[in-house]
Amino acid sequence: MALYVQKFGGTSVGSVERIKAVAEKVKGFRDQGHQVVVVVSAMSGETNRLIGMANEINDEPTPREMDMLVSTGEQVTISLLALALHKLGVAATSYTGSQVGILTDSAHTKARIQRIETEDMREDLNDGQVVVVAGFQGVDEEGNITTLGRGGSDTTGVALAAALGADECQIYTDVDGVYTTDPRVCSRAQRLDTITVEEMLELASLGSKVLQIRAVEFAGKYNVPLRVLSSFEDGPGTLIVADSDKDEDSMEEPLISGIAFTANEAKFTLLNTPDVPGVASRILGPIADANIEVDMIVQNVAPAGDYTDFTFTVAKGDYKKTLKILQEQVLPDLGEGEVKGDDNIAKVSLVGVGMRSHAGVASKMFRVLAEENINIRMVSTSEIKISVVIDEKHMELAVKALHKAFGLDKSDIERE
Ligand code: ADP
Ligand code: ASP
Ligand code: MG
Repeated sequence: MALYVQKFGGTSVGSVERIKAVAEKVKGFRDQGHQVVVVVSAMSGETNRLIGMANEINDEPTPREMDMLVSTGEQVTISLLALALHKLGVAATSYTGSQVGILTDSAHTKARIQRIETEDMREDLNDGQVVVVAGFQGVDEEGNITTLGRGGSDTTGVALAAALGADECQIYTDVDGVYTTDPRVCSRAQRLDTITVEEMLELASLGSKVLQIRAVEFAGKYNVPLRVLSSFEDGPGTLIVADSDKDEDSMEEPLISGIAFTANEAKFTLLNTPDVPGVASRILGPIADANIEVDMIVQNVAPAGDYTDFTFTVAKGDYKKTLKILQEQVLPDLGEGEVKGDDNIAKVSLVGVGMRSHAGVASKMFRVLAEENINIRMVSTSEIKISVVIDEKHMELAVKALHKAFGLDKSDIERE
């Protein structure tokens, strides 16, 4: 008998029919004698619908009220799933994040889990109940409802699995595993049997939304066996493995394991800023004070010695706010310079632990993009990834060309 935490995403619970199908699946595990905790998302589109209504009423909604609002989506699906299980003769009880004891900090809309009370859940499980938990939500010390950031039901699943010491956390979604890149953009993408935590962390942070980054962090930190599977068809899915479990000497280690991309960033360049100590902090200080996260940063070497250009990226959602700060605070403080903003950019990233031991990945990437006539606007690298910023209109072409050039296309591997 095993204990599974099974998370079903928005599409998997997107209609009454699909909720019934999830109940059948869960019943299958109970019939085999396993204990099951199920975490569900809101029905697909529901969280966006709720956010849309809030924005129609108030374009600067307070984070506390947003959490109160968006947490309702998951409350609908937990009760419907519990009812579907009852109908199949399976004992089940649904709980909100607060009821089940998922305690978080008070950072509304991006709260972090601090503690999970497991006693009541264990009691239910030992009584033969399926425990159905609302994903994406928790409660802070003062009793306020909090949420864990978009895609946060993944994190609820992994955190519950860690707290309960589950045998496996299974993330059921609308694709049958983690692919070499998003299969909806590149039809030649292929499913990976395994991927390391380190690679999955990079892919998730660079835009692959198949798993929320915090879920992967939890899995790595607490050694939670984590698997991504399809809700709709049977199959092994993709197992996220500890970095040390991958055979370092494997001859078959691919150079690149996956390609991530996002059109969710915007870029700013400050032209002709004085090239003197302290300028970077005078530019980025006010941005950080406004709680805006900066991603890539490039400062050019001053050609004539006195003036330079300074470029950085932020989330697209922070574009207007950042532009205002630069125009109203930073430029007057610097006394000179000019700001240029661009929110039609994309970041495309190659990820792979195999990159560590191979030179030439960057030059090959640049060559492939040049052959497609794609201009590179920024570059950033770390040990196991290379990211480039390009124009958004070239994103899909870049992903497909790189996928092919680095030997990830389905037909290429099948031929080997
Ligand atoms: P859920 O609602 O189940 O949480 P998501 O939409 O959050 O599902 O995540 C699944 C989606 O992630 C897929 O439909 C796919 O389009 C996208 N995706 C992006 N990158 C990848 C990848 N490398 N492998 C698999 N899916 C990916
Ligand atoms: N419903 C939330 C969202 O759409 C959480 C999730 O689905 O994981 O972001
Ligand atoms: Mg998701």
